[in-house]
Amino acid sequence: MCRTGMRSSTEGKKRVPKSRIQCQKDKRHKTGPIVVRDEVADSEKSTNKVQLKRSRKRQRKESEEKTPNSFKKFTEVVSDAETELEENDDDVKQMDTKRGSSEKENGIMAHAPKLKEETARQSEPSSSKNPPRIKGASKSAVPHPERPSGSTTMLSCCMLDKNISYGTSNRQCKEKDTCRIRKGEEYMCSKAKPEAENICMSCFDTADVYKDKWTKKVNTNNKCEETIDCSECGDSFHRVCALHFEGSFVCKNCSGGERDWILETDPNCEIDVFLADTANKLVNEGNVSVASFTTEKSVTTRTLMPDFYQKDAKKKYGSAVDYVARAIYFFQVVDNISVAFFTMFAQEYHNLAGKSWCVIDYLDSVPWMTSTSKKPSKVYSQLILAYFEHMGKKGFKHGHLWANPPCPGDDYAFNVHPEFQKYLDRNALICWYQSLLEEGRKAGLISNFRNFREESADGKFNKPIDLPVFVKSLWQEVLLATQDKMLVNKEVAYNKINFEKSLEEDYKERAEDNFYIGLCGSQRLKPLPTQNLNPHEILGDRETFLDKCIAENWEFSSLRRAKYSSVGIIGLIKAARGQQ
Ligand SMILES: [Zn+2]
Ligand SMILES: [Zn+2]
Ligand SMILES: [Zn+2]
Repeated sequence: MCRTGMRSSTEGKKRVPKSRIQCQKDKRHKTGPIVVRDEVADSEKSTNKVQLKRSRKRQRKESEEKTPNSFKKFTEVVSDAETELEENDDDVKQMDTKRGSSEKENGIMAHAPKLKEETARQSEPSSSKNPPRIKGASKSAVPHPERPSGSTTMLSCCMLDKNISYGTSNRQCKEKDTCRIRKGEEYMCSKAKPEAENICMSCFDTADVYKDKWTKKVNTNNKCEETIDCSECGDSFHRVCALHFEGSFVCKNCSGGERDWILETDPNCEIDVFLADTANKLVNEGNVSVASFTTEKSVTTRTLMPDFYQKDAKKKYGSAVDYVARAIYFFQVVDNISVAFFTMFAQEYHNLAGKSWCVIDYLDSVPWMTSTSKKPSKVYSQLILAYFEHMGKKGFKHGHLWANPPCPGDDYAFNVHPEFQKYLDRNALICWYQSLLEEGRKAGLISNFRNFREESADGKFNKPIDLPVFVKSLWQEVLLATQDKMLVNKEVAYNKINFEKSLEEDYKERAEDNFYIGLCGSQRLKPLPTQNLNPHEILGDRETFLDKCIAENWEFSSLRRAKYSSVGIIGLIKAARGQQ
């Protein structure tokens, strides 16, 4: 029985935080720690939820402050996992229940894009650690956590085992930014900071640590789904199947029918209405709704640029850079539930050294959208273009994208992606952006676009101070990482000339992965709004959203769990709208 599983699971999974670089000289450590699980005794877990949460925040903060990183921030998870269908089909059949038949039609099965295998392969990363599984290929020997186990402890809701464990996420190895400890792998865990410090087995041999202060563990999540009993008939259900969050529970048989959990787009939010309309023209079934949140942000210019350019930066940007952070969530109705499938996090600068910019900072998707005529990635690309189109109409002049894929298995916004979901690698992602921007240009949704090499051809970026620096984005990270590297390397004199020289490598390496977009529209941009914003303390920020999902075990690893997680998110949105 895992009645407490859910409560005690705040620390149940770790996340891999996006690292950030700071220019201060004392912050030159390697990769930041990530939050880990399973280290706290059960008794502590239930009492220390808040504390754990804070400690995770602390760790994240710590990690952000420390890390010169190469691992990245721009995630795009594209999920055209059509080759997986056979396997999913089997899963669904086995999981078939009273409700199961509708799930089969509208869920994973209906996700099946009508594509041929060749098309499917094209969208798969060439360097994936999880090679694409093609129809007819033998199935993994590792049982799917949500596969029926054949156990006799059945519940009233589904054929799944009573004790099904939650998903396992990557842990970050503290020795290397790009090093991950994947599900099922052994790793070493610091006895002093089990939540914060993990090292993979191969890095541990050479790690400069007191080896007796570390202990070996396996990266597995032992937390199980909670079950609840109907207060009238006494039948037991998975909380996830019952879509029940708090208070006493009455099952649908006793309460006389199913509820629906539909999120409507707020008709007063112009951008949400525009994006939802765009999405609904692209999907043939399952209404799409959109909810977005905006938060006013400001950073001191000092944190944006390396020491050498502090004076220039202040002259260029003033002492602070202000922007609006926008979080956009897309939902589609599946079985009378609006299920989240795509999210975008953007930064909108009304006046960055005299220019207005919309920067798409993060994208994330899970493969639960159904569209019978288009590949999901086609829909996502149209949504990105629709965002730029809308912002152009509002008066923004410039857009920016950075192709920066995640390490496979990392979660950027949605907690725990399905194992079969494929990520585009860097080159594939660059091509994907390139073609979506080309399509947008031809359709007149954007005016033009150039990659970094093309944008810098006329000498626009002769000096580092000329680089387009956005908060926690590519060039800020490159500049600060370069400074950090130079401060450590005693063989090269720390001066401006050497600094600029060492950037040349980055200019080459980054020639094609970041894009500068001219937006369409003749309207004058209204000054930065100070009212009319729509902040949300959880949903307004990618990291707080991911933290919330981790804390609540809101996963997106299966349609079943994505439904439950989405109902949780919808609850937050409706509460913020005063609808609950
Ligand atoms: Zn169930
Ligand atoms: Zn490692
Ligand atoms: Zn009942």
